[in-house]
Amino acid sequence: MGKTIGFLEYKRVDEGNKKVEHRIKNYNEFTVPLEEKKLKEQGARCMDCGVPFCQSSSGCPIDNLIPEWNDLVYNNEWKEALQRLEKTNNFPEFTGRVCPAPCEGSCVLGLNNPAVTIKNIELAIVDKGFEEGWIKPRLVNTRIEKKVALVGSGPAGLAAADELNQIGYSVTVYERSDRIGGLLMYGIPNMKLGKDVVDRRVDLLRQEGVEFITNTDIGKDISTKDLKKSFDAVVFTTGATKARDLPAENRNAIGIYPAMEYLTSNTKSLLDNGYADKSKLSAKGKNVIVIGGGDTGTDCIGTSLTTGRKIWSPILKLMSQPSQRFRLSKPSPGQSGR
Ligand SMILES: Cc1cc2nc3c(=O)[nH]c(=O)nc-3n(C[C@H](O)[C@H](O)[C@H](O)COP(=O)(O)OP(=O)(O)OC[C@H]3O[C@@H](n4cnc5c(N)ncnc54)[C@H](O)[C@@H]3O)c2cc1C
Ligand code: SF4
Repeated sequence: MGKTIGFLEYKRVDEGNKKVEHRIKNYNEFTVPLEEKKLKEQGARCMDCGVPFCQSSSGCPIDNLIPEWNDLVYNNEWKEALQRLEKTNNFPEFTGRVCPAPCEGSCVLGLNNPAVTIKNIELAIVDKGFEEGWIKPRLVNTRIEKKVALVGSGPAGLAAADELNQIGYSVTVYERSDRIGGLLMYGIPNMKLGKDVVDRRVDLLRQEGVEFITNTDIGKDISTKDLKKSFDAVVFTTGATKARDLPAENRNAIGIYPAMEYLTSNTKSLLDNGYADKSKLSAKGKNVIVIGGGDTGTDCIGTSLTTGRKIWSPILKLMSQPSQRFRLSKPSPGQSGR
């Protein structure tokens, strides 16, 4: 385990956030990582529970070996920590940034203390792995003579592609959009998940042998029948992009958009030409009302603020209260937001 009485010695500390004034002037990620010394102390808080609820069914959905890498970080064994993390997690650089961290909500320490800061430690391990050059393409030596097509390149498609490719299948991923990543690319905004982070992983997968084909809508550009003829197996990882509409009076009035249309348009414009085009759905100079106060609503608020710099004032007021940020109620101890 970390340090025998580390949970008594050290308080929970989380990564920081850049100041609101700074954040609304650019589109970059806004978190400030903890320094290594602090991360070690946070690892030391883990009690290595006999039944680690953090990694069981009520905690991490992919059974990350959390107490093991908490201990390794405390003992400065970062490379080994990365190896343990990679045993269960295909893309810790995504989950370390945007997972809602049910592990922290299930952490036993959270019963009477703030939970272990698991998500920040996870991200630090993988970020260090990239910085140190420990994460390299894992080339596949023996190929099975079977071809698999994956339809959809969101996190589900990418994870399936990674697993099948490493076993030795020849994998082709079809994506109807112009970029790979699904909602990692065009749903979750830049400020929460930089698109260079997504591209870096896609490049690795490409170097490992996965083929990606964009701008191809299966069912329209290629029929599923033809796809089945050309491949030994077809896997559908198409997500659920269809919006839940709000059939209220005047729903069809000008200027009302589903979140995904708005977010996609803005991210695409940022990546294509740094917001130079006029075709995007822009919040610039407009008053914006967001209906729905969940994570997607928060993403729309953040995007409107950075692109439009003008938003319904009660929301700005809420943002500038550091303890509340976007929340309307106080989070439970250790329950981190996305
Ligand atoms: C705005 C927003 C913010 C979010 N933020 C977070 C967050 O912070 N943390 C978190 O954990 N989750 C978040 N989520 C949820 C998360 O993004 C999804 O759960 C996740 O992306 C689902 O992955 P997926 O691979 O199943 O589908 P998707 O990511 O939707 O990917 C499916 C892909 O399939 C493609 N496709 C569909 N049909 C076809 C076809 N016929 N031919 C070719 N391609 C096709 C689509 O274009 C898409 O790229 C967010 C969701 C939204 C909408
Ligand atoms: S539940 Fe919390 S304290 Fe226990 S092993 Fe997991 S992270 Fe450590």
